[in-house]
Amino acid sequence: MDPLESGTADLAIIGAGITGCSAAFHLARAGFGVVVLEAGAPGCGSTAHSAGNLHLQIPFAPFRDRPRAWSERFAALIPFYRSAVEAWRSAEALVGPVGFRTIGALLVASTPQEMQVVRRKAGVERAAGLDVELLDADTLYERAPRLRPGLRGAAFTAGEADCDPALALDRFAAAAGAAGAEFRYGEAVASVLPDGKAFRVRTAKSEVRARRVINATGASLCALGHDLPMGGFPIQLQETAPTRPLIGQLIYSASDRLTLKQRADGSVVIGGGWAAKRAADGSVSVDAEAGRANRDLAADLVPEIASLEVARAWAHEVNGNDSWMPVAEEPVAGLLALSAPWLGLTAGPRLGELACDWARGASADRLQEVIGTR
Ligand SMILES: Cc1cc2nc3c(=O)[nH]c(=O)nc-3n(C[C@H](O)[C@H](O)[C@H](O)COP(=O)(O)OP(=O)(O)OC[C@H]3O[C@@H](n4cnc5c(N)ncnc54)[C@H](O)[C@@H]3O)c2cc1C
Repeated sequence: MDPLESGTADLAIIGAGITGCSAAFHLARAGFGVVVLEAGAPGCGSTAHSAGNLHLQIPFAPFRDRPRAWSERFAALIPFYRSAVEAWRSAEALVGPVGFRTIGALLVASTPQEMQVVRRKAGVERAAGLDVELLDADTLYERAPRLRPGLRGAAFTAGEADCDPALALDRFAAAAGAAGAEFRYGEAVASVLPDGKAFRVRTAKSEVRARRVINATGASLCALGHDLPMGGFPIQLQETAPTRPLIGQLIYSASDRLTLKQRADGSVVIGGGWAAKRAADGSVSVDAEAGRANRDLAADLVPEIASLEVARAWAHEVNGNDSWMPVAEEPVAGLLALSAPWLGLTAGPRLGELACDWARGASADRLQEVIGTR
């Protein structure tokens, strides 16, 4: 092996998504020697393909469909997600522009039955410390006049926000690099082998000997041989051409899976976790039929969307699990696996701070306490 391509580090971070880059930034800033190993090119993971929404609330569909115990478990994560959005708010001062905007979110009900569930959800969220306002139909139309007539009301969560995920990832990586972290792209880690009190982290091109390792590989969290509750699921998004101002908030529907917002440039982003296609070779692509259904749902709430041209649609794997519980586990002493399912963009900068706490001596159990999973 070429010795120039090997090296030693306090920490090797596997994966240069928002979790890995934020961890690299905080660790390098704290004085740790950090090497980041990324299988692909900058921005190839889930992060840069995400919608950029920064969520605080309990997701509607599982709240409606699952036993109460699930909602109570998720509600325990709300303080963590609040701190995560705060981490985004402070990110611009640390790493430069990330496109952060506090836009607030409307969960819109079309029927009295839906409004009942929206009300019940708001009660659970308020009890967990989230600022949620219930709006009657008149107030809803004052705040979002381009919604279709006939809606019953909504819950408004003032603190929800968004960002430009590709820009943010780039800023975190650049700031980590400026603080001293070394990034190696095109280096897929094939194995992490214990070696005395350290690890040998191997790719096809090089090896890094590191005292500690952070697995921040998102949807591939289990690929390095540890049995962790996280998988990869193909989902899709679409974006219209820019248009005049239609909606100022992030909009969710209490009828079906929908997230809807208008970017600062006027384009409308339509998503909600709709499944994309996966081919036999593992590649993922947009499911046109699901895309149409997703767009119809958006147009049902904001009729003008029906006449907008779809400028771009894309699919990518997201890290997810059935419980919605983030993973902060140390399957082997000295190796931390860190991943927040479905909402990992929101969580990323805060997980990076927690990775730094861990490197300074906090246990994985302590991290779980902070996140709310323990
Ligand atoms: C279409 C879509 C929309 C989304 N919208 C939102 C949203 O609005 N809000 C939100 O909060 N979340 C959203 N998400 C989820 C969010 O994008 C992810 O949860 C989050 O980006 C995960 O960040 P990460 O850093 O953990 O993983 P990633 O960004 O996926 O980064 C992991 C990196 O690890 C690398 N890697 C994997 N294996 C190896 C290996 N063996 N060696 C080296 N490198 C490796 C990968 O190449 C990848 O770059 C969305 C996801 C998708 C797909």
